[in-house]
Amino acid sequence: MHASATTEAAGRHELPPLPYAIDALDPLISARTLGFHYGKHHGGYVDTLNTLIADTPLAQLSLEDLVLETSGKPGQVKIFNNAAQAWNHTFYWRSLRPQGGGEPPAALRQRMTTSFGSWEACRKQLSITATSQFGSGWAWLVLDGDELRVTSTTGAGTPLTDRLTPLLTIDVWEHAYYLDHQNRRADYVSAVLEKLVDWDFAADNLAQALTSRHRAQLPSGS
Ligand code: MN
Repeated sequence: MHASATTEAAGRHELPPLPYAIDALDPLISARTLGFHYGKHHGGYVDTLNTLIADTPLAQLSLEDLVLETSGKPGQVKIFNNAAQAWNHTFYWRSLRPQGGGEPPAALRQRMTTSFGSWEACRKQLSITATSQFGSGWAWLVLDGDELRVTSTTGAGTPLTDRLTPLLTIDVWEHAYYLDHQNRRADYVSAVLEKLVDWDFAADNLAQALTSRHRAQLPSGS
């Protein structure tokens, strides 16, 4: 899916470049936070993953397949955690942009209205879910069948393993906001949702999911 760019043929996973400059989200998410979060945390997950899977059959899998393959297997918890965190972080960077926020594009807004009553209600649900997630985890906007849903995961958890289509995510591990906002997670979440969130990314993911589903339903030969 969207993070396939993080995977390459040689069996080693690469840390994908940040989609913007390290100080592009400053001061809401500072260059210092991104330096640690992207460089040390995300980079660390990728490096650890490569070490764990080196010279094993798992090294042949794409990052997404690796997440699905190791999910729920007691002997592979470490691999799952690092693979899922590598995937989640790439998805998170793309869920943000400088001068983000504002109103979602029409097609996404419409679906938010159908599922939540209004697009603002959907954003509010994301805000509540992100703020109230207990401990380290993630808040997600996902496509579930024809419905949009807001959900959260704990630790390295990802909606991929529930066969849901992620559209957008907010990292609510303390390392995402502590240097800039200390314990005030709600300030970080509202900064993200009002000023940094990239609704176009979510809308693109939605369109892509609907298109591939439509293609899968076409009779063969057409
Ligand atoms: Mn993180």
